[in-house]
Amino acid sequence: MEILPRRNVLNRPGHNETIRPVAANLDRVFVVVAAEPEPDWLLVDQYLAACERRDLRAAIIFNKVDLLPSQAVGEGLLADYHGIGYDSFLVSVRTGERLSELRKELIGQCSMLVGQSGVGKSSLTNALLPDKQLQTRTLSEKTSLGRHTTTTATLYHLPDGGDLIDSPGVSVFGLAEMSIRDLASGFREFRPWIPRCRFNDCRHINDKGCAVREAAETGALPYARYERYLKLIEKLPPSQRP
Ligand code: GDP
Ligand code: ZN
Repeated sequence: MEILPRRNVLNRPGHNETIRPVAANLDRVFVVVAAEPEPDWLLVDQYLAACERRDLRAAIIFNKVDLLPSQAVGEGLLADYHGIGYDSFLVSVRTGERLSELRKELIGQCSMLVGQSGVGKSSLTNALLPDKQLQTRTLSEKTSLGRHTTTTATLYHLPDGGDLIDSPGVSVFGLAEMSIRDLASGFREFRPWIPRCRFNDCRHINDKGCAVREAAETGALPYARYERYLKLIEKLPPSQRP
């Protein structure tokens, strides 16, 4: 079966253009984590911030719930994310648990799976595509250092309509070209607090009169997310950290 890409996915190299085509074509990015390997929440928050910055809807898939003592443990791990409005899907590719729910969500949408290796992205893709049909596309991206990198992503047509992109190494979700301001607004729960900070250029670190920090300290915001925000700032290249 010939697969005609309905939309133009991630294929325009160039300084700013590297990112835009993705943003323009994707309906939703699913950040995949699993019971094993232990979730890297810093990476999850980085992905989510990158999505927010590009106005991409994001959700979380927690796979391998069969390895958890109970569903409630998984719900607990995602509580902060629920609280700030991210949808999540606790599934098991192994047992098929809740996969039908996820399948329904993907209908008619262009979705992308991202996440650290070993969480089950390929397994999930296979499970969602009964008759495995695939098209591998070579993507050219330009990194912040101006180097071109080639990433292989796979675009699949879903049986009930919609597309799924399994794209392990897309640097679009990195911190390149993000400023502290971008990062802060990439933490969606910070947004109502940011205008209340005393200074316009507040970095929400040790700044005087920082409403974000105060909200995190009083529990109005999830403190763990705030801590990861501080860690991500340290990961920003110095040029992006004035
Ligand atoms: P990827 O690197 O994200 O594409 O992950 P893979 O799809 O290669 O899966 C990594 C490993 O996790 C494989 O050994 C899978 O069999 C296993 N795996 C995938 N889904 C599940 C699941 O729901 N439960 C369990 N127990 N193992 C799973
Ligand atoms: Zn602040």
